[in-house]
Amino acid sequence: NYRSGSQIREDFLRFFEGKGHRRVHSASLVPANDPTLLFTNAGMNQFKDVFLGLEKRDYSRAATSQKCVRAGGKHNDLENVGFTRRHHTFFEMLGNFSFGDYFKKDAIAYAWELLTSKEWFGIDPLRLYCTIFEGDDAVPRDSEAYQYWLDVGVPAERIFELGAKDNFWAMGETGPCGPCSEIYYDLGKDAGEDPSVDKPFGEDEQRYVEIWNLVFMQFDRTVTPGGPLLTPLPKPSIDTGMGLERIACVLQGVLSNYETDLFTPLIAAAKHYVMLMGGLDETVDIANGSSLPASYRVIADHARATTFLIADGVLPANEGRGYVLRKIIRRAIRHGRLRGANKQFFFFMVKPVVELMGTAYPELVNLQEKIQNVVIHEEDRFIRTVEVGSRKLEDLIAQTIVDAAVSNDVVVTSEEEIPEIVQRSLQLGVLRTKNIVPVLSGRQCFQLYETFGMPLDFMTDAARDAGIAFDMEGFERAKEEEQARARASWKGGSQKSAAPVYRELTKTEFEGYSALKVEGAKI
Ligand code: ATP
Ligand code: MG
Ligand code: MG
Ligand code: MG
Repeated sequence: NYRSGSQIREDFLRFFEGKGHRRVHSASLVPANDPTLLFTNAGMNQFKDVFLGLEKRDYSRAATSQKCVRAGGKHNDLENVGFTRRHHTFFEMLGNFSFGDYFKKDAIAYAWELLTSKEWFGIDPLRLYCTIFEGDDAVPRDSEAYQYWLDVGVPAERIFELGAKDNFWAMGETGPCGPCSEIYYDLGKDAGEDPSVDKPFGEDEQRYVEIWNLVFMQFDRTVTPGGPLLTPLPKPSIDTGMGLERIACVLQGVLSNYETDLFTPLIAAAKHYVMLMGGLDETVDIANGSSLPASYRVIADHARATTFLIADGVLPANEGRGYVLRKIIRRAIRHGRLRGANKQFFFFMVKPVVELMGTAYPELVNLQEKIQNVVIHEEDRFIRTVEVGSRKLEDLIAQTIVDAAVSNDVVVTSEEEIPEIVQRSLQLGVLRTKNIVPVLSGRQCFQLYETFGMPLDFMTDAARDAGIAFDMEGFERAKEEEQARARASWKGGSQKSAAPVYRELTKTEFEGYSALKVEGAKI
């Protein structure tokens, strides 16, 4: 019963074509005419004006497989990558849409049929859970959706009621909004946070994975002097989104999106190229059943985001969208270096991404070489700008862990010689069992920021990936002290002492960072 990711994508679109939906190609990752949005992050983005009634199409039902990026902006999953099994920066969202045509009843019936019918996905209904909006002061409980779930055969004990945070969707302060229903899949006890405990739905985020979100656009939200006002829409609409990688995980019977055929070739490529460029030979560990370091998942994920973003015209820069891309590329490079790569390796990843995704997204095919050039240029730039600081940072992180291990009497012994990086992660593991988390010195990180132009987000990210804490207060304090010193010496008319080239670098990196913050805040 194996279905490849490509087959699943195609089956989804065919199913909805059979229900009178127009197949519409994915829109660009750079939203057209929507400066409030950093990247396309949902299938509905390209239909925003249709939902608002500002634009007419010659169809009232559509189905898409939409390229999405959730890194920066309102939905930011960048920090989740490497830590959860279900989040990516780039992913494909399968969606069916009704523009004032069918509503809740059909949306629920279609979703249930596709998921459970033997001719389609054939999922065991006893693995599925549904949620509905429980209601609040402004909007009543979604009893309609509740009834329709019962009608398709979901037993009452599998329907859960959740609050607005999970089950009420709004485009923004104003505009269409409404309750939603989410469908979850039980990956089983083995996928749970603690495989030895049988946890019920609602208590285990890893085990019960959200696969599909059905949004019922039912109201128009306006803001009046007396507060927000919800008016029923004359023609309610449907917007749904199902992560292709998540449904592939379910249908391929694996426990993680990263084990599906949408990722395994990329993870193999990441291992191959990292090793080719001087990295550790980790094949042995893996053959022994130990799990692959998260770095390869990060590299595979970021390779997809990088390839697709550049194909859609985003270039690395110090602000806005380009800065997010730069952050993604740098994070991938950092992870390659963590695994021992000492030369440019990341540009190699473009080819396997294009090979895997070029049929579904032909826009990639002719751009392979161009994308590779952008990436290698960025890798060169990494070496010129942050490599020195980045090495110092890794040393500092390593020292922090070693110090914590020494002062807490943690000893790691092994018959064979094990690489330092492996040793450290063992030490960290032992520290964790004692509830000790090493803290990266904010003051010393400030030194790296001042002297080598290390961006703050790069350093906090590295600490998080290493599994240690970051002393933000210490960083801020060191920064304030430096600013006070600078003001004092400025009054005295003297020049700053640090090398001007570094000072310049720090400033531009940081403008990029704050510009992004501002943009994010608007969303
Ligand atoms: P989660 O709660 O798991 O973060 P979400 O509620 O933020 O998901 P939605 O905004 O409802 O996600 O998006 C619709 C669907 O897109 C989800 O049901 C899921 O299948 C998929 N999806 C969302 N975010 C991601 C991601 N970062 N990577 C992969 N798939 C995703
Ligand atoms: Mg989310
Ligand atoms: Mg959710
Ligand atoms: Mg959701």
